[in-house]
Amino acid sequence: MVVLGIESTCDETSVAIVRNGNEVLSNVVTSQIKDHLPWNGVVPEIASRLHLKKIIHLTEEACKEAHCSINDIDLIAAANRPGLIGGLIVGSATGKAFAWAIDKPFIGINHMEAHLYSPHITNEIPFPYIGLLVSGGHTMIVLAQSHTTFSVIGTTIDDAVGEAFDKLAKHYAMGYPGGPSVEKLALTGDESTFDFPTSNLHKSDRKYDVSYSGIKTAAINFLEKYLKKETYTLNDIAASFQKRAFSVLKKKCISACIDYNINRIVVAGGVSANFYLRHLFSDIPDITTYFPDIKYATDNGAMIAGYAYHTFKENGPTPLTSGVSARVSGFKISLEKK
Ligand code: AMP
Ligand code: MG
Repeated sequence: MVVLGIESTCDETSVAIVRNGNEVLSNVVTSQIKDHLPWNGVVPEIASRLHLKKIIHLTEEACKEAHCSINDIDLIAAANRPGLIGGLIVGSATGKAFAWAIDKPFIGINHMEAHLYSPHITNEIPFPYIGLLVSGGHTMIVLAQSHTTFSVIGTTIDDAVGEAFDKLAKHYAMGYPGGPSVEKLALTGDESTFDFPTSNLHKSDRKYDVSYSGIKTAAINFLEKYLKKETYTLNDIAASFQKRAFSVLKKKCISACIDYNINRIVVAGGVSANFYLRHLFSDIPDITTYFPDIKYATDNGAMIAGYAYHTFKENGPTPLTSGVSARVSGFKISLEKK
C-alpha cells in the first residue's frame, strides 16, 4: 500500500510517500525557521499562511521524487491533531481534497502517535517497549504493546521538556529554535557547574511523572544572578540544564523498564534529535534504546504516512466530514488510550 502523508502541525511543512509502512519513496520537508526567527518563536498565523503557500508544490515534489503520480496513491494521510489549528486545517483540508479527487480513502493521524512510530521506519523494534515522547508540547512515558495499543504511564505535570529548552533560550536570546541552540552552547560548557533542582515526583500514582517548570525557573534565576558576577558562562548553564533535564527522564524510563520487566526503550519527538540525550540513553546496561533516524526526529511526513499504514489496517478511514483538534482531550496527562 502506497501512502501519502502530510505534516503541517507547527513550523515545518512536509509531504512524504511511503510504501507499506517503512519504505520511504520520498520525504520532502521545508522549515519555516527563518520566517519565525525575528519573533524568537513560532507565529501561528505566519505558519498557516506558509503551509498554504507550500503544500501543493511540496506534494508535486514528493510525487516527482517517488517517481509516481497522485493517482498511484492508495491512501492519503494528514496529521489532524494535536498542533496549531491553522496548520492542521491546511494539511487536513488538502489531504481530504486529494482523497476526494482521486477517490481514495483519507485518514487523520495523531501527530504524537506518529512521532512514536518514527523509530520504526528504520529499525525492527519488538513489542512491548517503554516509549519516551519528548517534544515542544508534550513529554510522556508510554507502555507500547503494539503500533496502535499503548497507554500513558507518565507525563509532565507542567511544561514539556522541549518547551523548557525553548523558554530558557528565548529568555537569554540563546537562539531560535531553543533546543538545538542550548545543545550547541552546552558542547563547550561545564555540566557540573550548577546542580539545578529537579522535582522528585515519586508518589505511587505519579511515579513516572516529571516536572520542568521548577528547573526552568531556577535556570533563569541562576543565570541572572551568576552572569551578573561574570563568573559563569551561558555555556555552563546550558550544559548543566541539559544534564538535569535529561537525567530525570533516563531515571524514570529505567524505573518503568524494571517495573514492567521490559528491556527496550524507544525515544521519539523533536527533542530526540539531541545527541547528548542519545548518548545518555545508549549506555544503559541490559536495555536497548532505539531512536528515529535523525531526519525523522523532527516533524516529517514519512512518520505520518508510515504510521497511517498501520492505523488504517486497524481502524479504517476517517470521514471527510471530520474536523481537526489543536489539543487532544486530556492529552497533557493522557495519550488517547486504546
Ligand atoms: P516537535 O514538537 O516534536 O516538533 O519538536 C520541537 C521541539 O524539539 C522544540 O521544543 C525544539 O526546541 C526541540 N528540539 C529540537 N531539536 C532539539 C535538540 N537538538 N535538543 C533539544 N531540543 C530540541
Ligand atoms: Mg512534532
